[in-house]
Amino acid sequence: MQKKPMFFVDFDGTIARQDVCYTMVKTFAGAGWEELNRMWEEGVLTTVECARRIFAIMPVTPGELEAFFDTMEIDGSFPGFAAWAAASNFPLYIVSDGYDRYIHKLLTRHGLQLQYYANRLVYERGWQIDCPYASSECDRCGVCKKEIIDKIRKPGYITIYIGDGYSDICPASNCDIVFARDTLARYCRDNRIPYYEFATFDEVRSRVTSWLEPSASRPG
Ligand SMILES: [Mg+2]
Ligand SMILES: [Zn+2]
Repeated sequence: MQKKPMFFVDFDGTIARQDVCYTMVKTFAGAGWEELNRMWEEGVLTTVECARRIFAIMPVTPGELEAFFDTMEIDGSFPGFAAWAAASNFPLYIVSDGYDRYIHKLLTRHGLQLQYYANRLVYERGWQIDCPYASSECDRCGVCKKEIIDKIRKPGYITIYIGDGYSDICPASNCDIVFARDTLARYCRDNRIPYYEFATFDEVRSRVTSWLEPSASRPG
C-alpha cells in the first residue's frame, strides 16, 4: 500500500460496544418505538422525522439519561487503535448518525480526544434533535456521513470505513476499503461489495499494518 490510510469510524455498535442510541430508545421510549425504528431502517422515515416522533414518546430526564450513558462502554481495543493511528499520523474521524452527548461522554472517560461528527441531542421542553451536519442534497440522514467523507477525503490517502449498521451502507460504499460486521457486513455480502469482517480493532490494525509492509500488495 503506497498511500496512507485515512479512517472513518462509526460510533454506535462499532466504537461503543452497544448501539447506545438504539438501547436508549429501547430503554426509555414508550409503545410504538419499534415501528418507528423499523420505518427508519427501511428508509421510510428520515433520521430527523424518526427522532422527533420517538422523542415525543420518550419522557426521560437529563439526569436519568446521563446515568444511563454512564453504563455504556466502548470496545476495549479502540483506545489502542486510536493511539496507533495518531502515532502513525493516520487521520481518524468518527462519523455518527447518533448523538454528541454520549459520544463526548464515552470518549472523555477514556481520555480520547478525537474529531467526531454527530447530531446534537438538546433538552428543551423535552428532547430535540439538532443536525449541524445535515446535507442539502440528502434528506435521509441527520449526519450525512457520505457528504462529510467527500469533504474530508484527500488525494494520496486510502479511505477505510469501519462500521456495522444501516447508516454505514451509503458511506462505506464510497470508501476504498470496508471493515464491517452485522448489518453492514450482510449488506456488503448481499450486494457483492468487498469487505473485511472484523470483531476487534486489533484485527483492523494488524491487517492494515500488513498492507503497509514494503513488499505487500496494495488493496483498494
Ligand atoms: Mg453503528
Ligand atoms: Zn446522507
